[in-house]
Formats: sequence, C-alpha cells, structure tokens
Amino acid sequence: MPEGRIDYLPLSMLNQLEYCPRRFWLMYVCGEMEVNAPVLEGQYQHERVHAGGTSWEGETLVHRRVYLWSDRLRVAGFADVVEERGEVLIPVEHKHGRMGRWLNDHIQLCAQAICLEERTGRPVERGAIFYWKSRRRLWVEITSDLRIRTEAAVARAFALLEEGRIPPPIEQWARCRDCSLEPVCLPREVLRLQSLELEGR
Ligand code: SF4
Repeated sequence: MPEGRIDYLPLSMLNQLEYCPRRFWLMYVCGEMEVNAPVLEGQYQHERVHAGGTSWEGETLVHRRVYLWSDRLRVAGFADVVEERGEVLIPVEHKHGRMGRWLNDHIQLCAQAICLEERTGRPVERGAIFYWKSRRRLWVEITSDLRIRTEAAVARAFALLEEGRIPPPIEQWARCRDCSLEPVCLPREVLRLQSLELEGR
C-alpha cells in the first residue's frame, strides 16, 4: 500500500480499475507488472509515441506526451497525444492491441479530457483511441454518461485504497484470459480457496 494519503491517482490506473479492481490493486498497490509479449510490444509502441514534442500535421498541431492533471478529481498522468485544431482539443490515447470489448480505454480517455478541460478552460467534446494492431482510430464522444462513469471510477479507486484490502478476483473469465497478471492473481485458485473457507472445510 503506498504510504500515507494518496494525493493524485495515475490516469492509467483508472484503466486498470475499470478492467478489474483486483488488477488495479495488484499493479498500483503491489507494483506487479507481468511482462509478456503483448506487454512488451505495447511498451515499444508507447516509446515511439512518448518521444514528446510538438509538430504540425497539416492544419493540426500535434502535442505528444502531454502531462495533465485535475485538482478536482485528484488524478494526473500523461496523454499520449493532444491534437489542437484551432480552438478544438482532442486527446488521443494509443493502445497496442485491437479494439477492446470493455470500456476501460474510454474511461482513461475521458479522464484525460476532463483534465484537459480543467487545465485549458476549453470544452473537450470528443477524443480518440488509436489501436496499433488494427491501426484503427476509434472516435469517442465525451458524453455526460461517460463523465459520470469516469468520476465514479475515480471515487471507487480512492474508496478501495481507503479500505486497504485487495479485492477478490472477478468471475469474468474472458477478462482473466486476456489479463497479463493471471499467473500472479490465480483467480480460480483464490476463488476455490474462498469457497472452501465458506463451507468450513
Ligand atoms: S486474472 Fe482476472 S481477477 Fe485476476 S487481476 Fe486479472 S482480470 Fe482480475
């Protein structure tokens, strides 16, 4: 458990929390990071984006690796890219895989949008997620529903940290199958042990 009060939560951890609270705990509190081939590939792709700097691409000013934070939400971290077209700001998050089935990437992007609004005073109405594997850009509207869900994820993260206990495994095997921390988490074994304890064996 990080010592003392957590001031600002990393934006990327909201992604983990939305995917699975136990994964969030293992990564943020325990510092676990299983490096497998997809994770390495993702790190390499991120390094290419994370060189930082600003350049023009046609009419768009492209800022790379932009540090953002929200004092209201107490979150902070880097946006891979912020595109500026006149007054319009568009955060773009790069992900190494294909388009996911879950909303975790959307939550991270929305948190970036909220930070960007707070830092610039300009409304951010949409963002994008670029998936390297499919080389597709998914446009995401920053709707009020997504904002509510994102703020709920932030509140949940702080509540979990306050509680101070590792969450149990989720029982969604499709997520566990794609989770790099499965060998550390041992979801089936842990759930089995918990059910044996409940049975008093
Ligand atoms: S293996 Fe499953 S329960 Fe464990 S951290 Fe990953 S997604 Fe969560």
